[in-house]
Amino acid sequence: MPTRLLFQEDSYLSRFEARVAKVVDNSVVLDQTAFHPGPFGGLDTDTGWLETSLGKTRVVKAEYKEGDVYHVVEDPSIFSEGALVTGVLDWDKRYAMMRLHTGAHVLIATIYNKYGYLVTGGHITHEYGREDFDVKDENWKTVFESAVAEANEVLAKCLEVRVYWLSRDEALKIPGLVKLAEKTPLALEKIRVVEIPGVDIQADGGPHVKNTCEVGKLKLLKIENRGKTKKRIYYGLES
Ligand SMILES: [Zn+2]
Repeated sequence: MPTRLLFQEDSYLSRFEARVAKVVDNSVVLDQTAFHPGPFGGLDTDTGWLETSLGKTRVVKAEYKEGDVYHVVEDPSIFSEGALVTGVLDWDKRYAMMRLHTGAHVLIATIYNKYGYLVTGGHITHEYGREDFDVKDENWKTVFESAVAEANEVLAKCLEVRVYWLSRDEALKIPGLVKLAEKTPLALEKIRVVEIPGVDIQADGGPHVKNTCEVGKLKLLKIENRGKTKKRIYYGLES
């Protein structure tokens, strides 16, 4: 059985219980977890704690391998197969990543819908997000600056962020659902869809906030020329 990904069912779950499936070197696999592995689906890893009857230890990172989440821990000796575990996320970091990730949807949609730049890759941590765009015109610096302000206007509308599951066939009927090949697990039978009505819809396995008002405002951190048609934007949270 692959690890059940609790963050896909409830992004706000910061504490959970699970059973140890296996221990491999300094990693622990659980039957279910709220820890988001990373880098995975464009997002960073969560960190936090795991506790058993024998003590507690730091989770320094979580890694996704062949359907399982491997929690890399400082002390693997407190785990044995079948033992009950309590997991606790470093919630401030995770929540910041959820806010930035939701903000990224609005920013990427704004840049695509209004200026036609297609996103080609990106990464989001709890401190900043970065996205690369395929850009052919010369106004990209102005576009990035304007787009952050425009995305902030959309975020301030307090739009609901809807998360639901569709069959693979239903999902493929939605135009534009697949924006980033790396973010789209098309081999799966059920596709998780994240929709901000009127703004963005995509296949997406990551944690988000429920409402765009929780994001607050994005701020432009840096823009970079990464090549003839590749331009990069770095952004963070205003507060
Ligand atoms: Zn997302």
